Amino acid sequence: MKFFTALHSPALGLLFGLGSALTCQAEDPTYYRGNTHTHSLWSDGNDFPEMIVDWYQQQGYDFIALSDHNILAEGDKWMAVEAVKSRQKVPGAGAMEKYRARFGETWVKTREKDGKTEVRLSTLEEYRGRFEKPGEFLIVPAEEISSTWRTASAPKGLPVHINVVNVKEVIKPAIRPTAVETMRAVLLSVLEQERVTGQPMLAHLNHPNFQWAITAEEIAQVVEERFVEIYNGHPGVHHLGDATRPGQEKIWDIANTIRLRDLHAAPLWGVATDDSHNYHGGEVSPGRGWVMVRAAALEAGALVTAMKAGDFYASSGVTLREIRFDPSTRRLSVSLVVEPGATYRCELIGTRRAADSPVGEVFASKTGASVDFDLPEDALYGRITITASVPHGNPSFEGQKKQAWTQPVGWEQTR
Ligand SMILES: [Zn+2]
Ligand SMILES: [Zn+2]
Repeated sequence: MKFFTALHSPALGLLFGLGSALTCQAEDPTYYRGNTHTHSLWSDGNDFPEMIVDWYQQQGYDFIALSDHNILAEGDKWMAVEAVKSRQKVPGAGAMEKYRARFGETWVKTREKDGKTEVRLSTLEEYRGRFEKPGEFLIVPAEEISSTWRTASAPKGLPVHINVVNVKEVIKPAIRPTAVETMRAVLLSVLEQERVTGQPMLAHLNHPNFQWAITAEEIAQVVEERFVEIYNGHPGVHHLGDATRPGQEKIWDIANTIRLRDLHAAPLWGVATDDSHNYHGGEVSPGRGWVMVRAAALEAGALVTAMKAGDFYASSGVTLREIRFDPSTRRLSVSLVVEPGATYRCELIGTRRAADSPVGEVFASKTGASVDFDLPEDALYGRITITASVPHGNPSFEGQKKQAWTQPVGWEQTR
């Protein structure tokens, strides 16, 4: 293998599930819908975890991962009711009232301490039984490992946030002098826990443009990372970039081009998430981005395994029926579920092998609900972005339309 020496470790070999399931079979079309990035009162969200899980279940999600900053929902945690109220973004019924109304007085635990009323936050083990049902709904433990890269010239540091999905024990954040070293330190901690526990886990790098903390070139270098957010519903993460810096989708193409053309490493898979914090009005709300995972079962291990194999797509509102790639003909096909009144623009995007070719070039564009593309012979990889004509129902940026993004294919032959 033309891989880095790091890949010779068994744990890294596991992480690089080498795209074995890129060709979808029509007879097994089950996609599970889930969001892997959500915040609750356990860190800086403004609702109780049960209320958030309840919301996702009501919206038809199959799985949800609450991913609070540097903490898991375990142990005894109390919070002043005033502090809960202070997180309210808009007037009206607040978290406490809604929590009592939904779960009842006996479920909601309060106490008086130092002259203040406090409310207890439920642990995952306490509340999961109220929601989970085999094959129907699953809660996956997760953490947003919220690290910092920091140098003398930037003493406050910049954020390196990585979500670990299906984590077993809390992982401490890292502080290193560069973004690359910080990402690598965190990912090695995840791999170590995965190795020790034998529990399949995945780590996705979050919102690289948040505070403009991490560049595509840096992400490309850290080949231990296999997942990056290409859409994050938080309005403050510079999804579209700015005049001089690329947006999240372009970062994905830049990083994958470097990996495939220069490093001979596997590409990153793209993830869409909510990163929701506000549940009673406010800008950072849920329901904006998710993944659709074609897993053998609605179980954490099966979901992680399928995602590592690239057997999923990212969505902010477009639902796909099927993604098919034939490596021998390099034909990539997609068909989708049509919403009344909507049309769909499907773009085949990738980069050619020649060093001076444009990165993230649109090779071809077609309108329709079922399209086929032939990936150019000299393409390092190809992927499809589908953009609906209809607006996103809860946009995180101006003019946002519903979209879906398939994973890169055709790269195994070109590495
Ligand atoms: Zn974050
Ligand atoms: Zn977050």
